[in-house]
Amino acid sequence: MAAEKATTKGVQRMSTSTTTATGRAGVYESLGLTRVVNADARLTKLGGSLMPPEVIAAMLDAASGYVDMYAFQERAGARLAELTRNEAAFISAGAAAGLVISTLACMVGTDLVALSRLMEHGEARKDEVIIHTAHRIPYDPAIRAAGARPVNVGNALQTFDWELEAAITERTAMILWVAGDHLRRGALPLEETVRIAHARGVPVVVDAAAQLPPVESLWRFTREQGADLAVFSGGKDLRGPQASGLVVGRAALIDACRMQGSPNQRLARPMKAGKEEMAGLLAAVERYLTLDHAAIIAESERVIAGWVAAFDGLPGITARRDFPNEAGQPTPRCLLLVDPAAAGIDAAGLRRRLFAGDPPVAAGEGSVPNSVALSPDTLEGADPAIVTRAILAALGR
Ligand SMILES: *Cc1c(COP(=O)(O)O)cnc(C)c1O
Repeated sequence: MAAEKATTKGVQRMSTSTTTATGRAGVYESLGLTRVVNADARLTKLGGSLMPPEVIAAMLDAASGYVDMYAFQERAGARLAELTRNEAAFISAGAAAGLVISTLACMVGTDLVALSRLMEHGEARKDEVIIHTAHRIPYDPAIRAAGARPVNVGNALQTFDWELEAAITERTAMILWVAGDHLRRGALPLEETVRIAHARGVPVVVDAAAQLPPVESLWRFTREQGADLAVFSGGKDLRGPQASGLVVGRAALIDACRMQGSPNQRLARPMKAGKEEMAGLLAAVERYLTLDHAAIIAESERVIAGWVAAFDGLPGITARRDFPNEAGQPTPRCLLLVDPAAAGIDAAGLRRRLFAGDPPVAAGEGSVPNSVALSPDTLEGADPAIVTRAILAALGR
């Protein structure tokens, strides 16, 4: 934890020194943009996450040398498989790209004739992806991007095992199962989905993009719950490069991912992970496995307790700890319940005022109506105090 804190502060000093402290213009400033203090979440629209020095160093190192990219993808994959206790691993250009490539892998496997048919004619014998209606999320167009058709099973509130049995046909390429406590309701549990799918020879792919923490997710879905592949974002809690993702699972399907992907000029070629992303992701996973995750959560709890003490009881404001977070992860955040009449502003207005501030502070939409969520995970160094001052100012204190 001491090391994690030190590196965290190092990043903060770096970012401050390019902005307020010296006034030296960085790339954002040179374009008239302002650095945002992100108390919302690891959102792509805000830049996702910040890379720690080890990750930046690995990317710099990779950027300074040519390498056999086939061999690099294979060796890095073997190392990632070992680190994550999986049979095999593949580095993609983000989790969404990992979903496209996993779908392609399940559609044609390593059959070059089937791949050729798909490339030339857009046809595959297996071109349907079953997804629980309760699991439909804004990232599932990845299925269409691979040329497959999503087939809903169940409804938003419930799914029965016989409904999944009935949905499986000769055309079923895979079942996409989306992980997260917030999506549990209405879908069959993963183990039951796997049991039904495997009885019919159908692979199960887990979208686990935002399921870190807990670190155990890296092997739980595949090694313990039997899924064939699990897909993670490199640029969320792993704090690897934004355009990196990790696909782990069965060797035959990972071979199929590699067959589709760069440097091969096949269907996944437009979603290239470069040598810098690959090196950065590997460094990020290595680092993530050495972190004291309990200490990181304890630090989050300390920040949240400070926010609750600062905000609870202000006119129109009730502050409390919220758990789990918006992605169903076992990590706490702070919820501000806003009574617009007493506070003089509603939750949406408060978030807008924070984002219009100097520096802009991004706060999340809370899980209950008229609430604002604050997350400590994305903050660095002095940021929690900046957030406190910004909220007090936005409330006219
Ligand atoms: C973030 C996210 C993705 C996309 O991940 P990228 O790494 O940004 O491509 C996909 N699925 C879920 C559930 C996500 O939360």
